[in-house]
Amino acid sequence: MDKLPKDLAESLLPWYEANARPLPWRQDPTPYRVWVSEIMLQQTRIEAARGYFERFMAALPTVEDLAAASEETVLKLWEGLGYYSRARNLHRAAKMVVERYGGRLPADVKALRALPGVGDYTAGAVASIAFGLRAPAVDGNVLRICARLTRCPDSVGDKAVKDAFRQALQERYPPAGGKCAAFTSALMELGETVCLPGTPDCGRCPLSPVCAAHGAGRETDFPVMPEKAPRRVQRRTVFVLEHMGTAALCKRPDKGLLAGLWELPNLEGELDEAGVLRQTAAWGCAPVEASPCGQAVHIFTHLEWHMTGWRVLCAAAPDRFVWTTAAQREDRYPVPSAFRAFKALL
Ligand code: SF4
Repeated sequence: MDKLPKDLAESLLPWYEANARPLPWRQDPTPYRVWVSEIMLQQTRIEAARGYFERFMAALPTVEDLAAASEETVLKLWEGLGYYSRARNLHRAAKMVVERYGGRLPADVKALRALPGVGDYTAGAVASIAFGLRAPAVDGNVLRICARLTRCPDSVGDKAVKDAFRQALQERYPPAGGKCAAFTSALMELGETVCLPGTPDCGRCPLSPVCAAHGAGRETDFPVMPEKAPRRVQRRTVFVLEHMGTAALCKRPDKGLLAGLWELPNLEGELDEAGVLRQTAAWGCAPVEASPCGQAVHIFTHLEWHMTGWRVLCAAAPDRFVWTTAAQREDRYPVPSAFRAFKALL
């Protein structure tokens, strides 16, 4: 495997200055703004995160505001972004930052890393972008660039490979200070706009003269990816239960998938009309009629839900569910996007 080029920063920084996109979190990159944006951007595309970030900052502009907010307020601001444990951890971490550090994020990788939901990547991003420290932020984009620059033959899923790149990159960082922020952002920008997974745009890349994969004409042979376990498919029946202008929601368990979020009642398996009527009667809903209301698929990391919806008119409203109006669902009950297709029917 080749080494990372020595003059990585010198090649990348002028390119970044000329090509950086004006993203909302790049304006006024306070530690809090950088932190929230990096958590949001995990598993979320930039374009999707943009509006959420601006709304989040308008509602909770400081660490103290976030720490003092209710969990439902935070989850409501996160509604639709998915991976809700990110929001919960952010909330918990904000409380810790207020208690331990007086509301100021610590300028130290280890201390950042100790906060809930902050891994090596986020700690590196905040430390370098917000505090100007020599701390690499190695995500999938940066791994891809490193693997191509060096023609790395090993899987980038291996922790040892990731650690080795983090170490090698750290040696390529400019001296601590303002340029560390730009270097981290430049690597991210290159991975998001030029060194793309399937179609790297090497003609526009400032690193093409020093890129081993490009030199060999083998850009798309790298990175070597880990083998993926196939996702499990689970069939579910979703109930849109209606009673006198209200609709039923219930809360998911505090642990596991979509923990603690509100959802439309649903269960594993695909019921037919008779099964739906039987189940809703058993819940005490006194079903009057049931009709199918569509199908939807939601993909989680390791699981796919294949859902069939049933709209059921109910003569009774058992208190095992919360019976909500449209306004209450809008203001108070964060329902994950897995149920978007059915929630839209309410
Ligand atoms: S030259 Fe091509 S493969 Fe190499 S880093 Fe640049 S875009 Fe990626």
